[in-house]
Amino acid sequence: MKKIRACFDMAGKIVGYWKVLKMAECPEHIQCEGSKTKAWWLCVCNCGNKSVLKGATLRSGRSLSCGCRQLRNNYLEKVG
Ligand SMILES: [Zn+2]
Repeated sequence: MKKIRACFDMAGKIVGYWKVLKMAECPEHIQCEGSKTKAWWLCVCNCGNKSVLKGATLRSGRSLSCGCRQLRNNYLEKVG
């Protein structure tokens, strides 16, 4: 089994309301010039909406839901 760099293995991770399902292809509706090698992840929001997000976006916490909910700051503190 190949060793996957931990920082890029987001599968199964919870980020805000997102649950990361699996690695995804770059979304067709997004211009991926220069970022085709970046990891994209298929995520499902707590509300059921699915979206493909960049790994960097998830790791930085810039996206915590599909937009359906407003997260309070203390949520982040709780998750740590
Ligand atoms: Zn949602």
